[in-house]
Amino acid sequence: MQETQISPAEWEVMRVVWTTHPITSKEIGEILEEKMEWKLATTKTLIGRLVKKGMLRTESRGRQFDYYPAVSEVNSVKEAADSLLSQVCTKKIGSTLKMMIEDSVLSKDDLDDLEKLIQQKKETAPDEVKCGCTPGQCTCKH
Ligand SMILES: [Zn+2]
Repeated sequence: MQETQISPAEWEVMRVVWTTHPITSKEIGEILEEKMEWKLATTKTLIGRLVKKGMLRTESRGRQFDYYPAVSEVNSVKEAADSLLSQVCTKKIGSTLKMMIEDSVLSKDDLDDLEKLIQQKKETAPDEVKCGCTPGQCTCKH
């Protein structure tokens, strides 16, 4: 697992490449010009950063370059979610997830899946979650 932070602008590029690949920088640029009103140069800068970070790989085809994702969408979304939750006291993860669910539009199927997962988790859940925070960064140990 790599610890790569992707900026919101870089996510826009990744989403295009996850959806369609191989793809050229010009094609990525056209999609993001439409959505973000970015100039091609902006998109090319972002693509260059993502190649450097190892998120995109490139193959030359004649005079042009094709881009491919070097990481999967599922793993990247999971890493971003893990990284967000690692910034919260373990005792506050429950209320953070509750807030995220409250703010999300979810289908009946999504909710059925969540319900099943919650039932499963209940079977092995501890009575209390222990706080592993550094003293001074949360009030749990007061
Ligand atoms: Zn804590």
